[in-house]
Amino acid sequence: MDKATQRFTNEMLLDVLSLSHHATAIYATDNIIIEAANDAMIAFWGKDRTVIGKTLEDAVPELKGQPFIGMLRNVLLTGISDAGTGIAAELFVEGQLQTFYYDYEYTAIKNEAGETYCILHTASDVTERELNKHALELAREQEQALKIEQLLNEKLAAANEELTSVNEDLHEMQQRLLLLNNELEARVERRTRELSNYASRLRYMLSDAPVAIAVFTGRELFIESANKKALEAWGKTDEIIGKTLEEAIPEIIGQGFLPILDLVFTSGEPYVGNEVKALLPHGDLIQEAYTNFVYQPLKDADGNTTSIMLVASLITEQVLARKKVEHAEEMLRFALEAADIGTWFIDVKTQQMVTTPRLKELYGYNGNEDMTFLQAMAQVIDEHRGMVEEKINHAIAAGGRYDISFSARRFHDQKLVWLRALGKLVSDNNGTVRKFSGVVMDITEQKEDEQRKNDFIGMVSHELKTPLTSLIAYVQILQGRMAKTGDIFTINALSKMNIQLKKMGEMINGFLNVSRLESGKILLEKTDFNLQELLKDVVEETMLTVTTHELVFLPCDPPVIIHADQPKIAAVVSNLLSNAIKYSPRGKIVTIRCEATDNTILVSVKDEGMGIKPQDIDKLFDRFYRVNSKHTETISGFGIGLYLSAEIVQHHEGKIWVESKSGSGSTFYFSLPIHRDIKSSASS
Ligand code: ADP
Repeated sequence: MDKATQRFTNEMLLDVLSLSHHATAIYATDNIIIEAANDAMIAFWGKDRTVIGKTLEDAVPELKGQPFIGMLRNVLLTGISDAGTGIAAELFVEGQLQTFYYDYEYTAIKNEAGETYCILHTASDVTERELNKHALELAREQEQALKIEQLLNEKLAAANEELTSVNEDLHEMQQRLLLLNNELEARVERRTRELSNYASRLRYMLSDAPVAIAVFTGRELFIESANKKALEAWGKTDEIIGKTLEEAIPEIIGQGFLPILDLVFTSGEPYVGNEVKALLPHGDLIQEAYTNFVYQPLKDADGNTTSIMLVASLITEQVLARKKVEHAEEMLRFALEAADIGTWFIDVKTQQMVTTPRLKELYGYNGNEDMTFLQAMAQVIDEHRGMVEEKINHAIAAGGRYDISFSARRFHDQKLVWLRALGKLVSDNNGTVRKFSGVVMDITEQKEDEQRKNDFIGMVSHELKTPLTSLIAYVQILQGRMAKTGDIFTINALSKMNIQLKKMGEMINGFLNVSRLESGKILLEKTDFNLQELLKDVVEETMLTVTTHELVFLPCDPPVIIHADQPKIAAVVSNLLSNAIKYSPRGKIVTIRCEATDNTILVSVKDEGMGIKPQDIDKLFDRFYRVNSKHTETISGFGIGLYLSAEIVQHHEGKIWVESKSGSGSTFYFSLPIHRDIKSSASS
């Protein structure tokens, strides 16, 4: 300032400054005293020229609190100029505090020594520019904000859309949940219904169960429940429910049940009783009952027994039936042992033969040795084996029984014994064999007795034949002589004697034949002959002596030649004829018929006699069998005719049988096989 004053006065300087359109001010000293300020600057401040010489702070008090005074002081202090653009300043102009923007410069004016002695403050009002700039920025900001808003809106829209779709999904899910819920509810309802049905069924089942069920509660065994079967078994009504077991059924005291129940209570372990006998009331009586039962402890959540359930099945009938069977079996065993009978049984499943020791002994084994069916068959003598096999096979095929006597050689000692075997095969409806069993007994002694008897009969018959033959011879001589005398009475008497002697001869022959048959000495002497002729001869011969009945003969057409033992077949026919006459009343017809098929001839003898009862039919062909009735009492005979006839027919591989009804006559049949060649040669 000192140098400036050298060439310009202050006023001069101020005049220069005042001319400038740029607002200018000069400050000196630390207090920022306004040394000079042109009008433009003063106009900025909104003041008048009185501000000159005052501190800036006093002159423009509103600058207090704004940074400018501090900044000016800093320039003075540091000597570093300061400048700024668009800086805001709050100034009191035209009566109100307003914001203006300035570009300014605080230039440090220095002396030659480089010391700052004043500050030149230039400023231009850029309020409009700044405001424009601000407005522009604001517009830009608004635009930016708008964009952001738009973006946000878009995002919001997208989010909204997503939300809508999520909402829709949610809705759909809710719907499904609703459906599921409904379904679940329906199921729960159904299940509940089922459970209630189940519960009522269970109740029904328990009450009507075929086993006795009861529950006893507490140590005292109060009868909590008991079904029909239980009440029935105890012989009580449901009045006993709620009472103690002891009180309700005092009859069980002392039978051992109460201590067992007590034990189940203390141990918590179930008790199973098998086929236990109980004496229970039944009306006024006490009856024996058998039961299979369980005492089942029922426990609470802590595992303590609170009650006991009884489940029992009554098996009285089964046990008694079994005991009966056991008793019967025992009796049968005794009987079999006493009768010395061996039994066998074929296990249908395993096909194994199970035998009693006695049966093995009969076949000559030790009782503990093994014996198979095949072994037993091999021991049968060759002569009988075929017959035994055939009868057994027939029984198997037809599902029936067999009764055979045969000779067998014992295993160890090779002794020949006679055995009788009876077997029965039981099949079900499908023909499947269910049981096959039988008995075998030793009949050696009987057979030996029979043999002795047969030998005796044979011997007696034989011995009788010699005198009989001479008797017949003498009668015939006498008949010859008497014929010449004309003594009618004697002639007739001799003729009757002859008939009776013939009958006697036939009888003796019958016995002889039986004896031969039994000793296996009957032999067939087969020849080819015309059966027609044979039948005719027998019929005619019978007619000679029989006048009481009418004999009708229906011959074979065409005639048949058979290969057989002629006299023996004649004996069969003669026997059937004489029986038909013997067992039918006078005046009745006896019809002899012969029929031939391709392979067999069938001869039948029909009468109109007394007939035969069904129970006798099977036995007629047995040796010495005679029907025992009032009708037959007076008719003579020994029961050997049909036996011999059957043997003869069977030896010819034929069959003999009878069809009859008691009171309406009988028809006896026998059939014999025909050899084709013979038949054709006969018819040619
Ligand atoms: P017999 O006649 O000598 O007694 P058979 O063996 O010939 O012996 O006959 C056995 C039994 O069969 C007879 O006793 C008789 O009871 C019965 N019988 C035989 N033939 C007839 C028949 N035609 N009608 C009724 N019963 C008969």
